[in-house]
Amino acid sequence: MRLAETVTFGGGGLERAAELRGDQAALTAALDSGDPVVLPIWRGKPLMAGDALQFVAGDHAILADAPPGRLFLGRDGEGLRFAADISAWEPEAVDKAALDSFADDSRQTHPALPEASFRELRLAMVALSAREAEIAATAKAMLGWHRSHRFCAKCGAESRFDLAGWHRRCPSCNALHFPRTDPVVIMLITHGNDLLIGRSPGWPQGMYSLLAGFVEPGETLEAAVRREVAEETAIRVGRVNYLSSQPWPYPSSLMFGCIGEALSREITLDPVELEDAFWISREDLVAALAGHHPTLLPARPGAIARFLMENWLADRLD
Ligand SMILES: [Zn+2]
Repeated sequence: MRLAETVTFGGGGLERAAELRGDQAALTAALDSGDPVVLPIWRGKPLMAGDALQFVAGDHAILADAPPGRLFLGRDGEGLRFAADISAWEPEAVDKAALDSFADDSRQTHPALPEASFRELRLAMVALSAREAEIAATAKAMLGWHRSHRFCAKCGAESRFDLAGWHRRCPSCNALHFPRTDPVVIMLITHGNDLLIGRSPGWPQGMYSLLAGFVEPGETLEAAVRREVAEETAIRVGRVNYLSSQPWPYPSSLMFGCIGEALSREITLDPVELEDAFWISREDLVAALAGHHPTLLPARPGAIARFLMENWLADRLD
């Protein structure tokens, strides 16, 4: 697909400069320069001012709650970029219901930098430039991995942040642990003029999207598409093609956008996975995307599901 990398979180072109990850002198010089090079992340939410990421100097007071070690993200133009996890910071008042909701629209402001706030990336992502979106997604996914993989999976000892955050090393058995990325297939399943869409239990009212599911060990992307669709709807799928991928840091997925041709139309739902699924015509989907459908809310802008739907309608999948 020619437009594949125009998906949100795609095509950022960040120069990851892996050769600098072990160059402590170069990294320390950037962190000590006084330039704003560190992106603070609080419980997965990047610091933003207006619609841009807010970087701070390496010694800024907002980083007081960050554990030692700065995640080195890469080189952006002339400058190096880092991220730090300040999740240990406790704001004075937290709207817990908003934080736990599907689309958290609450913002948290740190007293050390009151003009900026922590915002949920799912809502802010479409406002960011491609480069900023890549930086934010990488930082969120990597810092989330460090938080959830503190202990060695081999011997159980506490492992250490190492190589500017790009692996964790176990001081007890010396095992190295690398950041994980979980492959997920998400698919346009078509039958003539129609597209298969569904909704999971617990989604916001009226919201429908493409079917999706984790790829299992030992499985190709094509096989995963056919298995997931069969499990969730009992529809059989024939030819499958890959279209586009999207890093999706919730918490560590890589979405593989595919298209598959349905060989059957009758839907039998798996009620655990899906609350509803149906075939929607191109005409009805156009109306839904324009906000003119009476009940249907399609996947939001920024999500690869929305990107694939729009490009399918526009015949831009080649
Ligand atoms: Zn170990």
